[in-house]
Amino acid sequence: MNNTGMTTLEVKKINKSKVYQFIYDQQSVSKQLIAQELQMSLTTVTHNLKILEEEGFIEKSGQYRSTGGRKANAISIVATARISVGIDILKEMFHLVAIDLYGNILKKETVPIAFSFSLDYCEQVGNHLATFIDTLGPLKENILGVGIAIQGHTSPDRQIISYGTLMNCTGMSLKMFEQFIPYPCRLEHDSTATAYVELWSQKDIKDALVFILNRNFGGAVIIDRKIQTGLGMRGGSLEHLCLDPNGPKCYCGKKGCLETYCSADSLKQAAGEELEGFFRKLRKGQKKQISIWHTYLQHLAFAIRNLTVVLDCQVILSGFLAPWLVPEDIELLEHMVQEIAPFGLEKGSICVNHYGQLAPATGAALYYIEEFLKTI
Ligand SMILES: [Zn+2]
Repeated sequence: MNNTGMTTLEVKKINKSKVYQFIYDQQSVSKQLIAQELQMSLTTVTHNLKILEEEGFIEKSGQYRSTGGRKANAISIVATARISVGIDILKEMFHLVAIDLYGNILKKETVPIAFSFSLDYCEQVGNHLATFIDTLGPLKENILGVGIAIQGHTSPDRQIISYGTLMNCTGMSLKMFEQFIPYPCRLEHDSTATAYVELWSQKDIKDALVFILNRNFGGAVIIDRKIQTGLGMRGGSLEHLCLDPNGPKCYCGKKGCLETYCSADSLKQAAGEELEGFFRKLRKGQKKQISIWHTYLQHLAFAIRNLTVVLDCQVILSGFLAPWLVPEDIELLEHMVQEIAPFGLEKGSICVNHYGQLAPATGAALYYIEEFLKTI
């Protein structure tokens, strides 16, 4: 023990971890810079770099230009030293992604197989996953785990889907998938997985409301960089915020939920056509489409107004519809919120993220990456 109460072994582990984290954050550094910034001796840094290189976690990645003295080696992490896989289970298809330690997508695939609550289905997912993983070649040895995003709330231990009305999957268990997936697995509510991607990509988010404009609406509440799932893992279900108790019937059995006004499916229904065609006509300035779009934005503004009264924070629009949004839409939405909000709205409070439909699969995969980065 030293005077900090730590054993030599613990100090060595912390030094190694600090060196790795610094290289990870900087992406490319020299040994001298590591020693300088971490206030470690060059001998300690050299020793840790040697261990990390032997373990395959870092590599030399070229040289810095000489400024008179010797050229310095540039050091980077090996981003594929560990990888993670994400699956997003949807009604008509599932998405697969493989991501590296920076969360970059290495490979993606969409499999058009309809969901069913059965072992047969889980086996099909397992078989497609095995083929997908085979195409990764030697990288498949580096898989940390498989995150499974699904449109349903999970039990707090993430073993069972506790509420899966939309997919008719209530009661489905992680064990059903685990039989066909030879890696550590984890179930995640797709909205939580999407919010996870927002947190990963925006390090300055503190508190935020995430509106996920998917075919079915999703939502998440982030407070102090934590996704709030509440007492029964149902916190942040913005899709069932009631806009009108006499409104259209929602799949939850109640009426007038935000889902029935602002999901991409409800917009498609109001448009009476596929959204590609709808947005094309809208951007050409056709009256009917403008009217439908304004009604859509007004409902969204109403939800934002009510929620920002409770949580005075940033609003992030994400998901399937997000790539179609243009700055004028956000300006109009902010204006609509201003008109009905008691305290107004800070300019720039509403922002858009463009991860699109692969966000839930990516977010589910990120769990294993974050865990790895915490423990190395
Ligand atoms: Zn509902």
